[in-house]
Amino acid sequence: MRIAITGTPGVGKTTVSKNLFEKLINLENNVKNINITEIVSKNQLYIEKDDEMNSYVIDFPKLNNFLELNTTCEDLIILDGHVSHLLNPDCIIVLRLNPERIFDRLSLRNYSEKKIKENVEAEILDVCLVESIENNVESKIFEIDCTEKSVLDICNIIISFLEHNTPKYGNVSWLEDYFYMLE
Ligand code: ADP
Ligand code: MG
Repeated sequence: MRIAITGTPGVGKTTVSKNLFEKLINLENNVKNINITEIVSKNQLYIEKDDEMNSYVIDFPKLNNFLELNTTCEDLIILDGHVSHLLNPDCIIVLRLNPERIFDRLSLRNYSEKKIKENVEAEILDVCLVESIENNVESKIFEIDCTEKSVLDICNIIISFLEHNTPKYGNVSWLEDYFYMLE
């Protein structure tokens, strides 16, 4: 089973994935936590690297092949990354965060102004959620507003989602309050 943890950079995917892994490994032993950016970089699963944006154009056939070879269908696989919803997941957790917080977190990472703006816009325009819906007819989608939540709270919400398996999305809307950030 593949669980995609997706969302705009800075939203908290890696932090949540690591903590979720620690919780799930206590319940089952075949849990894997895969950071997409790390494996793409380490195994050269990309077409090209954009040095200015410090990002990769991912080679999706190669990445899919790598995942097939390195996991089994018995594994409970956490896919941590902002393209994880494009990797045939069984369920998708879309993490959301107030765009002002995204701005603050990405500024702390010393991202370029252009990269910060692109990502803030992506969060306001629900890009990861829309892509998740468009690309996954079969998979269950759960959207979580992480803004006022601790990592522990978020992990507990995800575990509860996994138990009940009832999709939930469309509850987060930044456009009205943060429209000014698009200009
Ligand atoms: P992503 O993997 O989505 O880019 P990270 O997991 O690297 O995001 O988190 C970005 C920053 O936000 C980190 O400094 C992390 O400690 C912090 N963070 C993540 N989730 C939370 C949370 N729920 N509450 C407070 N800080 C958080
Ligand atoms: Mg990350």
